[in-house]
Amino acid sequence: MHISGQCFCGAIAYESELDENRIGVCHCRDCQIFSGSAFRMSSVVPIEAFRFTRGEPKYFDKRADSGAIRRLAFCGDCGTHLCSLPVGGDSTSPFVSIRLSTAREFPQLKPVSEIYCESRVAWLEPLSDSIQFPRMPPKS
Ligand SMILES: [Zn+2]
Ligand SMILES: [Zn+2]
Repeated sequence: MHISGQCFCGAIAYESELDENRIGVCHCRDCQIFSGSAFRMSSVVPIEAFRFTRGEPKYFDKRADSGAIRRLAFCGDCGTHLCSLPVGGDSTSPFVSIRLSTAREFPQLKPVSEIYCESRVAWLEPLSDSIQFPRMPPKS
């Protein structure tokens, strides 16, 4: 499906193609901190599927558990996180991870997997019809 979204203040906007079978919830500590909530809902898309349509985001480079550097894109005015991007050309399948709360289509989107369940908050039950992984899913 096609989605479009923007930050809270509207300075940064994007559009993307999205595979509804690749929508996930992440319970890692970084996602809890960056989202300001118990978990974050994201989807991974090939880099060609995504583009910014308005504004220039600010970036923050973070080292992921895998050791790869991920470039977090957020609005420099309102602080909303929009996505993470690959850094450099070293990845064989560069992907963008879209923070789905910013999408207009967010109310229709449903996660199919949960990752980093080892740091899920104790008061939250696993989602029904969703695959659970303690950390990252094994590479397929
Ligand atoms: Zn903004
Ligand atoms: Zn996470």
